[in-house]
Amino acid sequence: MVSVNRADTVPTAPSGGPAPPPRFERTAVVDLDAVRANVRRIRAVAAPARLMAVVKADAYGHGAVPVARAVLEAGADALGVAHVAEALELRSAGIGGPLLAWLHTVDTDFRAALAADVELGVSGWELAPVAEAARALGTTARVHLKIDTGLGRNGATEALWPQLVRAAAQAEAEGLVRVVGVFTHLAVADEPSRPETLDQLERLRAAVRTARSAGLRPALRHAANSPGLFSAAGLERPGDMLLDMVRVGVSLYGLSPFADRSPEQLGLVPAMTLRSTVGAVKEVPAGQGVSYGLDYVTARPTTLALVPLGYADGVPRTGTGGPVRIRGRNYPVVGRVAMDQVVVDLGAPGLSAPEHGLLGVEAVLFGAGEDPSASAWAEAAGTINYEIVARISPRVPRVHLHTAAGPGTAGRGGEQP
Ligand SMILES: *Cc1c(COP(=O)(O)O)cnc(C)c1O
Repeated sequence: MVSVNRADTVPTAPSGGPAPPPRFERTAVVDLDAVRANVRRIRAVAAPARLMAVVKADAYGHGAVPVARAVLEAGADALGVAHVAEALELRSAGIGGPLLAWLHTVDTDFRAALAADVELGVSGWELAPVAEAARALGTTARVHLKIDTGLGRNGATEALWPQLVRAAAQAEAEGLVRVVGVFTHLAVADEPSRPETLDQLERLRAAVRTARSAGLRPALRHAANSPGLFSAAGLERPGDMLLDMVRVGVSLYGLSPFADRSPEQLGLVPAMTLRSTVGAVKEVPAGQGVSYGLDYVTARPTTLALVPLGYADGVPRTGTGGPVRIRGRNYPVVGRVAMDQVVVDLGAPGLSAPEHGLLGVEAVLFGAGEDPSASAWAEAAGTINYEIVARISPRVPRVHLHTAAGPGTAGRGGEQP
């Protein structure tokens, strides 16, 4: 089954049979079977810890609602997002199950969150308004207390932690909150040889001890992100990292969180393909400048191909040199990435002739296979693969493949790959 995010452009099947995959000019194709396979792989690595599937930022650009459905089908125990607004969007789409949002402002609608049964991360100041919202609704907020063990972002400082757990215990006694979890976020887990991670985990254990002595009984301690999960096996006690639950984002989408390990080495399958077609092909002489600034000048007569994906589609403007796969070969983007398009140098003259048939052939910037990869684009643009997929803009329609779980994609109790 296929679904797209633009109902008005879905082709309808002539006879009520299955519609052919829609052919958009630009698409980010997301294979939900790849996402399901990644969930099964991640659960196997995390076991017996539970899996919170992180679907913030529209599931890192992959489409939060279809991805949330797929990960739950495949056995994820909970969903995680940054913002309450993201959580409410999932609830509006009918997504059930435990769902945590952890990044708030004074304008966050905690009442709406509680009314939608959304669990809340609490780092400090949020406790009072969350308890207030619970009182107003006559309900009990399920909260996860967050400790800053070294990242220096969200989370209570160790100095303020005793105060936070005392206040939380008081609110628990009043029936306004229930502390179901204690968590922290790791700073350098993608560099497994660095010592700070073990130190952070030790500080988390100390924070849990403090919480318990204040009378709290958090059942879910969680710290590991994708790199934490995949480096746990290298620790003396993997359980110190895996704890009761892992919060995994980028690996759900089949991307490696490590600079030096491929998805394949981690048992993951990239889920997104960013594709278009060759929109124009032309012959140019030596000395032809290409794109704004004329930074690239052809050294010899050659053929240029234009691909209509640019920085307004989320292709990084700094991504010159990034690969584009055309007919099984990767060509680098030459010249500047423009708002709407990139140009590749096909490296030989004469290829615009009709017998080569290049006009309209598929052009893949990165693919559900590993070549070319989102990581190759990250390298070209001086960023990380997370950003490459998360920044694909709404101008690019998402097409979801395998929206219905097929046989062999069972979740709990399903076969491990
Ligand atoms: C984004 C995020 C994650 C997921 O991290 P990945 O490296 O993508 O697995 C986990 N926890 C928190 C708090 C996050 O913000």
